[in-house]
Amino acid sequence: MHSFDRKPVVTLILHMNRRRLLSSLSALAAVTPLVEAATGGAAPRQRMPVIFIGHGSPMNAISDNAFTQTLAAWGQRLPRPAAILSVSAHWLTPGATLVDVQARPRTIHDFGGFPQALHDMQYPAPGAPETAQIVRALVKSRKVAESDDWGLDHGTWTVLHHLIPKAEVPTFQLSIDYSAPGAVHHALGRELAALRDRGVLIVGSGNIVHNLRATVRNAPPSAAGATPWARDFDAAVRDALADRSFQNEQRLMQYERLGAGAAMAVPTPDHYWPFLYALGASDPREKLTTTYEGFHAGTLSMRCLQWG
Ligand code: ZN
Repeated sequence: MHSFDRKPVVTLILHMNRRRLLSSLSALAAVTPLVEAATGGAAPRQRMPVIFIGHGSPMNAISDNAFTQTLAAWGQRLPRPAAILSVSAHWLTPGATLVDVQARPRTIHDFGGFPQALHDMQYPAPGAPETAQIVRALVKSRKVAESDDWGLDHGTWTVLHHLIPKAEVPTFQLSIDYSAPGAVHHALGRELAALRDRGVLIVGSGNIVHNLRATVRNAPPSAAGATPWARDFDAAVRDALADRSFQNEQRLMQYERLGAGAAMAVPTPDHYWPFLYALGASDPREKLTTTYEGFHAGTLSMRCLQWG
């Protein structure tokens, strides 16, 4: 074990009760080779970026459009991660935060009424149970419980299909406590940031503006096709991101403060919360790149972001 690995291990042990110590130590023994692999042995690995993807309709999985082409090109540019942690809008667990520990996560087709080709799609990425245990140990603000009955939902695989098409990178999901306020999700993101130094790509997958009740038929995929409140709210988020003052960070966490359009832009926060995980895992001083901006159906902001 290298010196930079020791400190987290000591911290872990300090935070464990006696009953869990033995099983955790054996988990750590399994984790150590992974950490070393993720850091390239003796030399620490390059810090991974953190990204947010506006995923939109599941149909994007089998669509060839400007958004999916952007994802494919983006995947080519990204450094190759040791693992991917996805926080998707579609795994909501009120009252709890869960992490999927399966070695072979299934592809979940959590939608209806779409073409058979979409239902037939598989994203056979292996899981990352060891990294999932690191997540459980890293998060101190709340308990992160194990789950073995989720997998990869469409918030994850419809976009990773374009980003990492060979599905060779171990991938696992963290659930969203749907009863928790924005500050909790942001704080969780901050705790997860340490994974970036271990070769883990943190992906938030949702939509900054997501209103399926007010969609506009045949809207062009640009700001010109968006409803005024969708355009305004998306721009308010963009502007707050450009100046991450304490006040703006608070407004991003409490999205209701981002303007009158918030109630329409975020009628329910399920697709907004993944953005706060990515935001929390980012450093306000690091470079922010907007990899895609535009709207689908007039009310879905497809804004995609990369920090670092
Ligand atoms: Zn969605």
